[in-house]
Amino acid sequence: MNNLVVAKFGGSSLANAEQFRKVKSIVLDDKRRRYVVPSAPGKRCKDDYKITDLFYLCHAHVQHKISFDDVFKIIEERYKEIVKELELSIDIDAHLKEVRKQISQGASADYTASRGEYLNGLILADFLNYDFIDAADIILFDKYGCFDSEATKKAVSSKLGHIEKAVIPGFYGAMPDGNIKTFSRGGSDISGAIVARDTEAGLYENWTDVSGFLMADPRIVDNPKPIERITYNELRELAYMGATVLHEEAIFPAREGGIPINIKNTNAPQDKGTIIMDNLEGEENLGTITGIAGRKDFTVIAIEKAFMNAEIGFGRRILSVLEAYGVSFEHMPSGIDTLSIVIDDSQLDHKLDKILEEIKRQCNPDSIHVIPSMALIATVGRGMAKTVGTSQKIFSALAKNDINIRMIDQGSSEINIIIGVETKDFEKAIQAIYKAF
Ligand code: ASP
Repeated sequence: MNNLVVAKFGGSSLANAEQFRKVKSIVLDDKRRRYVVPSAPGKRCKDDYKITDLFYLCHAHVQHKISFDDVFKIIEERYKEIVKELELSIDIDAHLKEVRKQISQGASADYTASRGEYLNGLILADFLNYDFIDAADIILFDKYGCFDSEATKKAVSSKLGHIEKAVIPGFYGAMPDGNIKTFSRGGSDISGAIVARDTEAGLYENWTDVSGFLMADPRIVDNPKPIERITYNELRELAYMGATVLHEEAIFPAREGGIPINIKNTNAPQDKGTIIMDNLEGEENLGTITGIAGRKDFTVIAIEKAFMNAEIGFGRRILSVLEAYGVSFEHMPSGIDTLSIVIDDSQLDHKLDKILEEIKRQCNPDSIHVIPSMALIATVGRGMAKTVGTSQKIFSALAKNDINIRMIDQGSSEINIIIGVETKDFEKAIQAIYKAF
């Protein structure tokens, strides 16, 4: 590990010339920020377009044999305006022309979408006076389109080893035949984390338009406190429950390399943001929690059968029914004679009646009933495992607010207490728990 910083800037951080200027002053403010990973230009305001969406639209037009001129014109204007306002000498027209040609000749969706980052990277490299390294040369996928970690590691060290300062576009890489392959949407976060891991950076900065994670969703809780430090595990739990700032898959490469991630705000660079790291020893957060997050739209199948505990294979038979219908489950809290299965509604898709029939047929339960419209709320905190009274605080806050708890689940890591409430109580429950801590 060295003192190198890899800085990834999201789409809103590079949406126009003014944002580019902010990015430049941030990058130049710290000499350690040697490798910069940009996204494509994002929205400048609520009703604006994301360049990546427009590129996908171009591709769809070509597929349907419809002219993509109008859409491409909007893309061209965005890039040309940035270049003009920043008074850069890069020949963006030539690059746009080449991209246009490839798209019109039927380039793949991945190639087309990746041009958002590619063009933005060229412009940013020119503006910062950094080298431009095409992600297709260092972020590598295998012939099946799966990310190839080993090949990438080698390519990054051989290509970047001698380059002092570089801009590497996010979101894409290449397969062995040279074809472009993208990560899933929002994937520039992953590219940044991979570059950080493979250059053994001391820090991965992820610059966006919020000052890190908040303890709760600001649409539900007024002015929630920012989370200054969080472990990868805690973040994983919160992210699963809907707290999004960072692409979930970006956590893994950074964690593998033991590299802390700092979520920072391009529009308020003085804010500390959130640091995500593994080793938070001495900061055990005893007596308090790190954050609360939740998701709606779950269905619970509650099954009862006398002496279920003694019946060998009962749980397996139930789960095999789900498996046969291609349904994954989220949680499975159980009692002696009861078992509940919590399933994301999107999984069920008209299959519920058939699943119930099949469970009845195969498992012969005493009763089986369905609780629809459940919401799950996760209260997450690394301090929980060693603190007495966390659950008591949660439950009494809910009781005081007249909220009925329909389910309780605590994972073995003891950093998370999940409760199920009715959807109508969702917001009220999050507010009550937040207040209690
Ligand atoms: N531009 C891509 C997207 O919109 C990737 C990214 O922004 O991270 O999904």
